[in-house]
Amino acid sequence: MENFVTQLQRWYLENCRELPFRKTREGYSVWVSEIMAQQTRIETMLPYYERWMDRWPTIQSLADAQEGDVLKMWEGLGYYNRARNLHNGAKMLVQEENGEFPTSYAQILKIPGIGPYTAAAIASIVYDEKVAAIDGNVSRVVSRLMKIESEISSASAQAIVDDKMKDWIDGSIPHVFTQAMMELGALVCTPKSPDCDHCPVREHCLADRDKTAERYPIKKAKAKVPTEKYDCFIIMDNDGKIAVSGESDDGLMAGYYRFPVASQIDLASLKDIERIESQKHVFSHKVWETTYYRAKTDVPFAPLLWVSEEELEALPLITAHRKFLKKTRQG
Ligand code: SF4
Repeated sequence: MENFVTQLQRWYLENCRELPFRKTREGYSVWVSEIMAQQTRIETMLPYYERWMDRWPTIQSLADAQEGDVLKMWEGLGYYNRARNLHNGAKMLVQEENGEFPTSYAQILKIPGIGPYTAAAIASIVYDEKVAAIDGNVSRVVSRLMKIESEISSASAQAIVDDKMKDWIDGSIPHVFTQAMMELGALVCTPKSPDCDHCPVREHCLADRDKTAERYPIKKAKAKVPTEKYDCFIIMDNDGKIAVSGESDDGLMAGYYRFPVASQIDLASLKDIERIESQKHVFSHKVWETTYYRAKTDVPFAPLLWVSEEELEALPLITAHRKFLKKTRQG
């Protein structure tokens, strides 16, 4: 039987998708692509990546950007701290490293928002450093290959994944191996219905031998996420200006504007209140159940910001409210 790493790498080199961020192995581009790809589908992040690199092609240009522009560019991509961290990271690199991207795993790890997985991914892809990039996708693939019977986030399961990945990357071409593992997890050994019939490393896979791939990885039962209910108001004054709030007391999406909720409004100053609809917005750790109302007021009141339709378009607005706005305009 051919060696696992050789087989996987050959498959990747012959079959990998041509993605814009794979055209280069330059540190800044790989950093941006890795951060954007976290928790996000490749098809979703690609247009963002291309717009971002067009606008801020260098660390220096990103460091010089305004935070509002960075957040606006990220609008709709979710997990907004990623944008802030990229921006802060660029500023740090300009201040401390003359705008140069660091050249080792240990140094890359010092950039804000970069954890061990991302640092290892960048160091192995850009510098061929032999550090294994292990995230949920890689853990899933290894758990099936090795039939890991303990819960996947447990120390014992992660120790097995670590050991295997270290062994493999030691005998690999790191930039090929890291991307090959990612590609295998994204295209073949997917969370549901892994395509074992077309898997390039099938003969190495213990789970495939007894057709138990979907039993792995072993996971904890999911805790139920809490639901929060809000009444949210689209308020227009007599000049056609719309009220938005810059406050985020829930810690979600700081820096983004949103339509005000009942607790931020003097309801007595509203007129023509009309219920529009209720919508659910599902986050990883909570659900917002929002009922939207349209209303008018004769007196624009503080501390809300009153903006024209054009200004509203240009502001970074939380995704849930931007989607709602789009939908009501289409409807
Ligand atoms: S054979 Fe199936 S379960 Fe095993 S690594 Fe390949 S796709 Fe995953």
